[in-house]
Amino acid sequence: MLDDIRKVLFHESTILSRLDELAHELTTDYRGKDLTVIAILNGSFVFMADLLRRVPLPLQVDCLSVSSYHGTQTTGLVNFRQNGVADLRNRHVLLLDDILDSGHTLHAIRERLCGGEDAPGGCGALSFRTCVLLRKNVERAREVDADYVAFDIPNEFVVGYGLDYNENYRNLPFVGVLTEAAILRGMRAVEPTHSP
Ligand code: 5GP
Ligand code: MG
Repeated sequence: MLDDIRKVLFHESTILSRLDELAHELTTDYRGKDLTVIAILNGSFVFMADLLRRVPLPLQVDCLSVSSYHGTQTTGLVNFRQNGVADLRNRHVLLLDDILDSGHTLHAIRERLCGGEDAPGGCGALSFRTCVLLRKNVERAREVDADYVAFDIPNEFVVGYGLDYNENYRNLPFVGVLTEAAILRGMRAVEPTHSP
């Protein structure tokens, strides 16, 4: 698996010391508030675990499972794998995701949970903010930004620390970029097989 990595963008130690800072910021901002954290699975499971263990506040955690990527490309369609969502009335909501890229995912989730940016009261939440591990420097298809960002990155497809390529590489402890050979191998593996 390590042979498939062309370069490491953020080593585990770099990520964890940045999470110390981010957690400190969150602890200050949410002290004394009823906080519900909603983590977007699968990509944010490592980020969620490492970040929230650094926030010494009472808080509730819920998870939403969505997908929108096919290989290394966004499809623009956000697929929700479940219907039920948490009761967010009178809660301060913090959405956690692995990466902000086109913005489709965070936009769709916000709409789904709270009826859009202009109507955070739609779900009865007191506030609604977003926190991402990575923010890609690209023009977004949707007008969304993250309130808390661990790292800004250039427009490259990254894996590791929860992020996948065709569901692989999520368990790498760092964030890195794949070799061309690994990307091509992954493409061939998911290509539909044609009968002669
Ligand atoms: P968006 O909807 O903002 O385009 O992208 C959000 C989702 O697409 C992320 O939660 C993640 O699952 C996936 N994604 C976007 N960029 C990348 C990337 O560089 N690497 C991986 N592994 N997933 C990505
Ligand atoms: Mg994701």
